[in-house]
Amino acid sequence: MRFLKILIPLFFIFISVHAFSSSNNAALFEAHFIPVNYGDSILLKLPQGETILIDGGAEEYGEKVARYIEDSGVHRLEIVVITHGHPDHIGGIPTVLERIPVNEIWVNQDIFANRAYVPIYEAIRKRTIPWKVIRRGRNWDNLGGAEIECLHPAIVSHDPNDNSIVLKFRFHKVTFLFPGDITHRAEKELLGIYRDRLKADALKIPHHGHPSLNSFIEAVDPKIAVLTIGPNPYGAPDPQTLRVYSERDCPVLRTDQSGAIVIKTDGKKIWWETDER
Ligand SMILES: [Zn+2]
Repeated sequence: MRFLKILIPLFFIFISVHAFSSSNNAALFEAHFIPVNYGDSILLKLPQGETILIDGGAEEYGEKVARYIEDSGVHRLEIVVITHGHPDHIGGIPTVLERIPVNEIWVNQDIFANRAYVPIYEAIRKRTIPWKVIRRGRNWDNLGGAEIECLHPAIVSHDPNDNSIVLKFRFHKVTFLFPGDITHRAEKELLGIYRDRLKADALKIPHHGHPSLNSFIEAVDPKIAVLTIGPNPYGAPDPQTLRVYSERDCPVLRTDQSGAIVIKTDGKKIWWETDER
């Protein structure tokens, strides 16, 4: 059974209903968090119909991610973003590239140094897919009806997590922040540079709920947060970090409990649907 919850900004009214009929032909921005256990794979449907995939989960989830995309009626991806070179984000990408035509790939500068990108290189070369390195300061005023801003990284460090591409999306009044697997170091850097501009209505919790700075969560001040998580030997999520969200009355949706999570906005309201387990 699908459940739908609606959050109206300012009033925080939660409504749970069993059926949903979207307003006729209203342009929506949708973020689909595909359940890939401890890993990320997020399909974005932009208001004008374009699609972006952020990460592809681990190698063993490539097939599941490709199937989810196809079952969502998507048969071409405009952009595939690889936030960073860790297996739980990059592993499924070659399968996705085999199955679904892709117009362009965005990567960070780590592609020049990290061996994890070798299978991606090969897949890109085989299919001659254009790719670009994305850095802080790149903005797209209108990509599929949404604004996109790259907040991070400016330069890459020795830590692949803190090299994660951080993207902020805006559709009219509603904003989404996708910070990959950044940790304290990058959170601190972002706070120093952006502070007030980190604020976002919906947040993908950084790095599967490993410890985050309280000040980072306060600056983002999300109304809804998504935790991409499954069994793992690393002790994630950090209970103290999750407590910060609950103390701020920010609901946390978890892919291990809810399955696929879809957050939608018409540019004013924000609501979500989950697969009940
Ligand atoms: Zn990860």
